[in-house]
Amino acid sequence: MKTALITGASRGIGAATAIELSSLGYAVAINYLSREDRAKEVAENINKSGGCAGIFKADVSKPGEVSRLFEEVCERLSPPEILVNNAGISYIGLLQDMTDEDISAQMGVNLAAAIYCSREAARLMIPKKSGLIVNIASMWGEVGASCEAVYSACKAGVIGLTKALAKELGPSGIRVNCVSPGVIKTDMNGELSAEALEELAEETPLLRLGNASDVAKAVAFFARADSSFITGQVLPVNGGITV
Ligand code: NAP
Repeated sequence: MKTALITGASRGIGAATAIELSSLGYAVAINYLSREDRAKEVAENINKSGGCAGIFKADVSKPGEVSRLFEEVCERLSPPEILVNNAGISYIGLLQDMTDEDISAQMGVNLAAAIYCSREAARLMIPKKSGLIVNIASMWGEVGASCEAVYSACKAGVIGLTKALAKELGPSGIRVNCVSPGVIKTDMNGELSAEALEELAEETPLLRLGNASDVAKAVAFFARADSSFITGQVLPVNGGITV
């Protein structure tokens, strides 16, 4: 059974992606940071329905923890054939109010983690001449969001990473793509009021917010043979919003 490693898969988009990739026949490595309860729940549901899932605690913003995470996934499952760089954190506020710690935390989880994990994945995938990396960016990485300057910069970086690595790893048979979500109903948007969410839905041409599974299904598209000639691309999953 081939393995898919999804970072930040205890909740939201990552959890939905683990379920989706399991349904394609992958053993799924569910990475999490603090919500072991939620990670266990996702794994139990997958295992109960005949899939194969394991949970792996690691702070993916730390390179040492990322190396250990990959070693554990190789030992307990198998070297990942798919890596989904999904773990992320949000920060809403003015740049001038951000502390050094706020900035490092944003850059660590939202950008450096994807770089550290992709480096480990490349080391394992290159000798096998096959593999897939899917990065989760954001529409704010494409158009920029006021009060989310560092988040937007990180997500723009994730898009750049995708395009560069697709060129670097393509000759080794490894594809690298990116899914760029719009506003998706997850804990990440939990601080927004019901009115704010309603306004965002109204600004969306499809008149609704996205679900985690909308994004997960786009990730799964890249895992299917149908997309075997697609690399270096950014697939927006945003209901048509162009703010
Ligand atoms: P979420 O529900 O808040 O879940 C975040 C996940 O990331 C959790 O599993 C969390 O683990 C994990 N995580 C956070 N920091 C971590 C770290 N240092 N190491 C390992 N795991 C860590 O978020 P989401 O909405 O599903 O977002 C998933 C991705 O989509 C993020 O990259 C986000 O930027 C992107 N995105 C989301 C939206 C949206 O509207 N929701 C829009 C565009 C892009 P614990 O449960 O253990 O804390």
